[in-house]
Amino acid sequence: MKILISADMEGTCGVSSWVHVQAPEVTSANQPASVSEYERFRRLMTAEVNAAIRGAFRGGATEIIVNDSHDFQRNLIINELDTRVTYISGADKRFGMMQGIDQDIDAIMYTGYHARAGTVGAPLAHTWNTWVHDVRFNGVSTGEFGINAAIAGHFGTGVIMVAGDDQAVAQTQDFLGDQIKGAVVKWGISSTSARHLHPVAAEGLITGAAEEAVSGRHIVPYRLAAGTEIQIDADHQSRIDQMLLVPGVQRVGNRTASFTVNNGLELNDMFRLVMKVGGFAMNT
Ligand SMILES: [Zn+2]
Repeated sequence: MKILISADMEGTCGVSSWVHVQAPEVTSANQPASVSEYERFRRLMTAEVNAAIRGAFRGGATEIIVNDSHDFQRNLIINELDTRVTYISGADKRFGMMQGIDQDIDAIMYTGYHARAGTVGAPLAHTWNTWVHDVRFNGVSTGEFGINAAIAGHFGTGVIMVAGDDQAVAQTQDFLGDQIKGAVVKWGISSTSARHLHPVAAEGLITGAAEEAVSGRHIVPYRLAAGTEIQIDADHQSRIDQMLLVPGVQRVGNRTASFTVNNGLELNDMFRLVMKVGGFAMNT
C-alpha cells in the first residue's frame, strides 16, 4: 500500500500565529518573521509527519512519499525525517500540495491541516492564501482539504486521515466523509490562538490515527462531477478583473469568479492558474 502524505504546517500542534510558520526569507512588511520561531515549529511539523509515517508503516504501508505542502514547500527537515520515506520539497510543482499523486498512490494522509477561509475560532484558517475569502464547489464551501481531495479523486484515490485543529478535522470529515480518521492536536480559540495538546501526546494521537487509517483501508475517492461549478470569492474586485483574462472564467459577483471543470485534474490546473493571475492584481 503506497501512501502520499500532504504535510501542511498551520495545523501543527503548538502553532497559533503566522510568525510560527513564516520562513524568514519570505518576510514582508505586514508579515513579520522570526528565525527562531520558524525553526522551532518546522521541527515540530517534522515530528508530526514522522508520527504519521510510523503509524502508516505499522498499519501496513509499504511505501510512503512525503510532499511538503506549506507555503514555499521546503519546511520539513530532511535529515530528521523517517529514513524509510522519500521527500518532495520545493515550489512550482504542477500539483502543489498534492505533488506525488499518480495512479500508483493508494491513499492520502493530511498532516498539519487547517480550517477553510472564514472559519471563526480556527487558528490561521485560510484557503490557499490570505486574500481568498471562500471557495465553493457547486455552492458548497470547501478548503484545501477539498481541493486536494478532488485532485486525488481524479487519480482514483482518497484521503484516509487528517491531523490538524478541531475544525480542520471536522470540516474534512463533513466534506469527505467520516470514514476519514481524525487526529485533533489543538482546539481553536480565535484566529490566532488555540489550546494545544503536548506535542508528544499529539504525535501519539497521529500515529494511532495513521495506523488505524491504513489498516482499515477505507478509501473513498472524492470525484468531481463533470460540469462542477467552482466559485472563488476574493478580497477585492480587482482580483476578478485579472482572473477574467483566463478563458472560461466569468464574474458572477463584484468579488466572485466562476468557472466549470469536468474533473480534479482540470480543477488543479484552472485553480492554480486563476490563483496566480489573481495574485498579481493588488501589486500594480
Ligand atoms: Zn494550508
